[in-house]
Amino acid sequence: MSEIMTMRGPIAADQLGVTDYHEHLYVEPAGWLHKLDPDFALNSVTKSGEELRRFSQAGGRTICELTAVDFGRNINNIKAVADLVPEVNVIVTAGYNRPYYMGHWISSVSEADMIRDTVRDLTVGIDGTDVKAGIIKCGTEYNNFNEKGQKLVRVAAAAYRETGRPVITHTTAGTMGYQQSELLLEKGVDAHRITLSHMDRNLDFHEHLRVTKLGVYIGFDSFGKAKYGPETDRLNLLRKLIDAGAGNRILIGNDLGRPSYWNAYGGGPGLDFLWTEIKSRMLENGFTETEWNMLAIDNPRRFFAGEV
Ligand SMILES: [Zn+2]
Repeated sequence: MSEIMTMRGPIAADQLGVTDYHEHLYVEPAGWLHKLDPDFALNSVTKSGEELRRFSQAGGRTICELTAVDFGRNINNIKAVADLVPEVNVIVTAGYNRPYYMGHWISSVSEADMIRDTVRDLTVGIDGTDVKAGIIKCGTEYNNFNEKGQKLVRVAAAAYRETGRPVITHTTAGTMGYQQSELLLEKGVDAHRITLSHMDRNLDFHEHLRVTKLGVYIGFDSFGKAKYGPETDRLNLLRKLIDAGAGNRILIGNDLGRPSYWNAYGGGPGLDFLWTEIKSRMLENGFTETEWNMLAIDNPRRFFAGEV
């Protein structure tokens, strides 16, 4: 399969351009989660549009909206945001984020129903609209690959077998990515259709190398979040991975799924940060233009097109 499903329908792989593989444009978290952490609510279409425009002005052409149903996906409002910046392709998500966000729901809903709903989002449309998802999500908890997490991984694998759409997982703090990959592969997902998010939360060269050696992609998306470690360490590890031959298995994004991360809400670093400041810093620090294009353009094109 070489066509890529965006909110506005299928596009060819060469139309992706500079691609942010993991973001959130509009999020309405469940009441209980909002009470625990109010810094997840990205619920202003205007502010989201402002931030997405900044991404576009920084050269961004495609953004992957990784908000799954259990994290508070509102497809009509994501569409309203996307319509404000029509020059950016937006790809939205089917499947589930992680057991923690699902709460009791994960135990009460059957695996068969979850697969049915995920496939419907990919092939018919989300929540009664004709907007189809182009990504399948699943995720697991911190250092824990329990039955609930495995259930989400199995659902994603089943949806992949039916639709062939790529799988982008959530790892909690960069853990359990290898275990996710093993189960996805066992259940028939092709390695080159899997990306593990947030792997740079755990800056472990050994772990990254053993996952990429399976043929699976790893996602770097903690840029500008000093609380998760200094930029120097992230960029040094990127350098080391590229030098070790794993550069063609890395996707980049910024996962700025909090109002405090957005300029539009008075926070930072903002949706343009990776494509402006980090890009310049990398080029000043020995990364070549070819390497930058590999991470920003070639790898996502290959991943979404399903090229081996
Ligand atoms: Zn995310």
